Amino acid sequence: MKNALKTPIRYLKGVGPKRSEELSRLGIETVEDVLYYLPARYEDRSKFTPIKDLKIGEYQTIQGEVITLSSRLARTRMPIFQIAVTDQTGIVHAIWFNQPYLKDYFRRGQKVILYGKVEKYDKLQVVQPEYEIVAEDEADSINIGRIVPVYPATTHLTQRHLRSLSHQVISQYTRYLIERLPTYLLAREKVVDIKFAIRNIHFPTTFANLEKAYRRIVFEEFFMLQLALALKKKDIKFKEEGLSHKVAGELLDSFKKALPFELTEGQKKAISDIERDMSSARPMNRLLEGDVGSGKTVVAAHALVLTIQNGFQGVLMAPTEVLARQHFIVLSELCMPLGINIVLLIGGIDPKTKKSLYSDIKEGKVSVVVGTHAVIQEGLEFKALGLAIIDEQHKFGVTQRSMLKQKGYSPHILVMTATPIPRTLALTVYGDLDISIIKELPKGRKPIATYWVEEEKREDVYNFIKEELNKGRQAYVVCPLITNSQVIPRLRSAQASHPSASLGTGKSQSAVEMYEKLKTEVFSGYEVGLLHGRMSSNEKEKVMRDFKKSKIKVLVSTIVIEVGIDVPNATIMLIENAEKFGLAQLHQLRGRIGRGDHESYCILLANPKTEEASRRLKAIEGTLDGFQIAEVDLNIRGPGEFFGTRQHGLPEIRFGNILKDFGIMELARKEAFSLVARDPNFREEHHRLLKEGLLYRFKGRLDLINVA
Ligand code: ADP
Ligand code: MG
Repeated sequence: MKNALKTPIRYLKGVGPKRSEELSRLGIETVEDVLYYLPARYEDRSKFTPIKDLKIGEYQTIQGEVITLSSRLARTRMPIFQIAVTDQTGIVHAIWFNQPYLKDYFRRGQKVILYGKVEKYDKLQVVQPEYEIVAEDEADSINIGRIVPVYPATTHLTQRHLRSLSHQVISQYTRYLIERLPTYLLAREKVVDIKFAIRNIHFPTTFANLEKAYRRIVFEEFFMLQLALALKKKDIKFKEEGLSHKVAGELLDSFKKALPFELTEGQKKAISDIERDMSSARPMNRLLEGDVGSGKTVVAAHALVLTIQNGFQGVLMAPTEVLARQHFIVLSELCMPLGINIVLLIGGIDPKTKKSLYSDIKEGKVSVVVGTHAVIQEGLEFKALGLAIIDEQHKFGVTQRSMLKQKGYSPHILVMTATPIPRTLALTVYGDLDISIIKELPKGRKPIATYWVEEEKREDVYNFIKEELNKGRQAYVVCPLITNSQVIPRLRSAQASHPSASLGTGKSQSAVEMYEKLKTEVFSGYEVGLLHGRMSSNEKEKVMRDFKKSKIKVLVSTIVIEVGIDVPNATIMLIENAEKFGLAQLHQLRGRIGRGDHESYCILLANPKTEEASRRLKAIEGTLDGFQIAEVDLNIRGPGEFFGTRQHGLPEIRFGNILKDFGIMELARKEAFSLVARDPNFREEHHRLLKEGLLYRFKGRLDLINVA
């Protein structure tokens, strides 16, 4: 037989045209698809919990006999169907809403299996449980008396159908599975072979075997992914000639001497990573991760000075004009005393100036260009670009690095991000970048006290803010909306997945209305300002200047202040409807305060309606550590949503869970990278099937699997 695993399922016993259509809706076309259609969970039907021993509040499997059935309408006219089930030790009621057809499905005296959360009101019940009717006479060896798989199903395919299909396919086709992983790997990592794994992932003989089967399947999936990443990284590193830099030199010495502070350990480590990369013969490809305020800019400046010392130019790309300006100011302060010529390049400069800037850059009269990436894209040419720094990379999307390459440069590349990316994700999403992490904030920072308070305390909050204003401090008041008539915005990507669930339906505060109220009533004795995204750049700039000069005491705004504003005297942040913001947003917002010598306070006003929103608020209240917050965020939203829907860097993962199975990911990565280091072209015979599998899985997308 050519490839038995590709046999279409309609050739199987008991699968007619109708059922095969249903199955194809689940993505099942061939025998192989059946083998890899993994159960969502398992039930231990070798023993059932007696009804009298059921634990309230837990998901459990119940077996019993139907004793009564009843249908009725709720006051809302919703049909309710209910059965009572007994196993001689007790009675439990199963209730379904809106499924009136179930009354034709169940009969008195039937044996049933129910799975759901057990609750107790006046009686013991399970609401909307999964259900299965046990065959009456046959010795039902697939469905009972063992650990049973429960598959993701559709309404038209019952568990029994799916189970008998997979049982049939496993007994007939498992022997055609080919082991792709080399034997030495199976032995070294104690990974079971593929036949054992597939058999036991569907019909495990014990939970221990299930565990082994799962580990094997996830290991293979992660291993393939990491092989692809390793190949990609190797490509970047070896194909291109790097611009090998000399680290020792006067310019860098003077730069270091002029620094007004002692570097933190994280900064020192990042700098030494960067120096090592830039002095090697391959181009650097490094991600610099550090929370807001961790001091990434100095590290970037250090790298810029290094490239300039070696006769090259540097460019820094920021996601917004505001940020570009700010970088320009900071870098100018650090670089200009050293005689380094640095320019700002943003939209809206007049054509003549632009033209002369361009020619200065091309002739090498300019050493550092700071701008937004849009400006840099337009036909800008360098004399000798040595280093490209991309700030806040996740906000850009995906194309910067390849864009630079298309220009024919192989500069060193440093990507900076303030989104603390948990290690779990970094290994997959940024798997082809080297990573430096700055964990700690510079010494002497005052921690920010964060309080979550409910609406009822609003007056107290205002009084507290007034006390601080009277001490000379300034405050931010952040609202989720610009005006009341505005539709609730997609607060960036933060809750894109559950807009209705987590955003709630309560009234939202808007910046414009809040501004009116605070200016005329609450803070009438103080200067109040307004800032939002619909104002012109000029207006915004004026407001920001006045706030910085402390002319404005209370700044009411939308999340436009999320990035890049630095006013050390602003020590209070009041966030309205804090439940409507994502965790990452709250964290970034809070990073605007705590920048000076005074105590800072972040107050979250929120009456959250969902459990998830409360978890977010508690997380923000409970820690200042961006990495910890990111982990919580990742756990609440899951990897797919973590970066928002616009992020396409995340490879599809079908079987494993990159959070839960992080240990397997690390193992797979270690093995994959060492394999690629030893046998980069997969020439060794025991790697032949792996290569085939890789090409099959990524089908020419090898350079696309990680486009971040
Ligand atoms: P971010 O990582 O958010 O870009 P910045 O580079 O803007 O952080 O640094 C935040 C502030 O901390 C700046 O005012 C900077 O001058 C200051 N800073 C950076 N490193 C140190 C240090 N080692 N000690 C004291 N202050 C520092
Ligand atoms: Mg920064």
